[in-house]
Amino acid sequence: MRTKVVAGNWKMNGDQAFTRSLLTSLLDQLGGDGRPSCEVIICPPAILLTTAREALGGSTQGSNALGDRVPGSSFIQLGAQTVSEHEVGAFTGELAPSMLADAGCSHVIVGHSERRTLYGEADRHVVAKFKAAQAHDLTPILCVGETLQERQSGTTQVVIERQIRALLNELGVAALSSAIIAYEPVWAIGTGETATPAQAQEVHARIRQLVASRDMAVASGLRILYGGSVKADNAAELFSAPDIDGGLIGGASLKADEFAAICRAGSNR
Ligand code: PEP
Repeated sequence: MRTKVVAGNWKMNGDQAFTRSLLTSLLDQLGGDGRPSCEVIICPPAILLTTAREALGGSTQGSNALGDRVPGSSFIQLGAQTVSEHEVGAFTGELAPSMLADAGCSHVIVGHSERRTLYGEADRHVVAKFKAAQAHDLTPILCVGETLQERQSGTTQVVIERQIRALLNELGVAALSSAIIAYEPVWAIGTGETATPAQAQEVHARIRQLVASRDMAVASGLRILYGGSVKADNAAELFSAPDIDGGLIGGASLKADEFAAICRAGSNR
């Protein structure tokens, strides 16, 4: 039985006051008896990670002198939205994986379609970022997905297999044993148009089959999230599909009530 994951991608939204207020409300709604059984991750802009960590009550995920993960005081984990593939040096504007880990991140999104489209990140860059993240004990959330044109031309599966094979061929299937995949059809991101549970399930099942063709155990433990206009009122139906293990949530993660309701939809299933 895979534990579901609900991750919020704030994109380039929020400031310190917003961060404190949203997280206070989330902790109120999801803390104590309301604590969801799914894993909850928030991915604010990098400059707000420290504010988020403080609002969540200290270190959300750090490591001790021996390098072991120390569970934090909050059940809400922190993630970043992207990461440099480099370790250190003259890369103006970039953030190294070690810096994100130091700021309390346990996860990082790689290959989001906005990074692929707006910033020219190709599969090889995404794989390099994935590898750099894992080298610092960050769990990558690898985004894959087809454009509307690709779906309409019947190449959805080809595109997604290309994106995943790029990783499998370079890093091997074992790399997916400590990672999460998010299937995010580009045409559903921020558009209000959600894939139907059947459309999403079909792609998720194919992703799992592809991984299973390399390693059954990795495939059966792999969490595959759906992302693309998930809201409180469609989350439960999407999350009830057998291969949908939670969601990567954009717009709705900026509203505490909506996000809390989605986290509850990710629980008890
Ligand atoms: C996203 O950006 O990852 C996303 C899924 O956005 P939205 O939920 O707003 O469609």
